[in-house]
Amino acid sequence: VPSDGLHRPVRFVSQADSADISRRIAVESRLRRATERQEFRLYYQPITSLSDNGIVSYEALLRWHDEELGEMSPASFIAVAEQTGLIVPMGRWVVEESCRQLAAWRRAGVDVRPVSVNVEAVQLQDPRFAAMVLDSLTAAGIPPELMHLEVTELSLVSHGDHVAENMRTLSDARISIYVDDFGTGYASLDYLRRMPIAGLKIDRSFVDGLPDDSQDVTLTRSMIGMARSLGLQTVAEGVETWSQYQFLRESGCALVQGYLLARPMPADAVSRLPATLHVSPGMDGLR
Ligand code: C2E
Ligand code: MG
Ligand code: MG
Ligand code: MG
Repeated sequence: VPSDGLHRPVRFVSQADSADISRRIAVESRLRRATERQEFRLYYQPITSLSDNGIVSYEALLRWHDEELGEMSPASFIAVAEQTGLIVPMGRWVVEESCRQLAAWRRAGVDVRPVSVNVEAVQLQDPRFAAMVLDSLTAAGIPPELMHLEVTELSLVSHGDHVAENMRTLSDARISIYVDDFGTGYASLDYLRRMPIAGLKIDRSFVDGLPDDSQDVTLTRSMIGMARSLGLQTVAEGVETWSQYQFLRESGCALVQGYLLARPMPADAVSRLPATLHVSPGMDGLR
């Protein structure tokens, strides 16, 4: 294939590769359209305290159902959104929608908890990111304490000039910032000390093997201990079983999130939840 300056010359394209490529192009074009038309929804998953099972916050999770492609998992379309820059307008929609939802809950007299929004490194590199978040909160009349952000370790180490500045502005405005999928990335402990971080979300891959896998046990305990000595909160992600839950409680982890407690749910289901969730042995896999 001759290079025309627009397309990179590709010499060998297997059938599998070309199917991947056309799939990606389809996802990209549908995603662009969905972003313009704001065809996304947010689901909310409770994060609870291990001391009393009280709901302390909700993680906002994107949902996208496309007419042609069907239900798309965020793990597949977020990557495309990042590579194409669509994550910036999509991410703005997530922030604005979270603010609208918080305002709607407040109007309805719901005892609101903070909403935790996922943010990619590309978004934090945008010099206007912090102002966009703060403006959205102001426009909706929501105090900044009601928004939390989840950033990846990659965000902490990406040397975009604006990442640290955005994080500092948001944290100074009293928005709590959590490191998501902690333990899977490259952030050195030095970043945890220097960046304005409120807590760590221990990645599901460590929680999976609890309480039997001795490596997961050791690593989880070290992460909890380290967080505690740095004065950071700990959230364990992907808690599915009673034995994981008990292990985490006994290990001094503060907060949990996972199917054992509740699955992600639409906003109207959130307003019907009790302030404290019920958890008991034998509930594994029931929700
Ligand atoms: P994440 O931020 O680590 O979110 C937690 C994921 O774990 C969610 O998957 C949630 O549904 C799932 N999960 C929660 N509890 C359990 C459990 O007990 N077992 C299992 N197996 N899974 C559990 P989801 O909703 O598919 O999202 C996947 C990822 O997509 C998120 O991982 C996040 O990185 C990204 N994502 C989702 N929404 C957004 C968004 O609005 N913006 C950005 N930038 N990324 C998002
Ligand atoms: Mg997250
Ligand atoms: Mg995430
Ligand atoms: Mg995570």
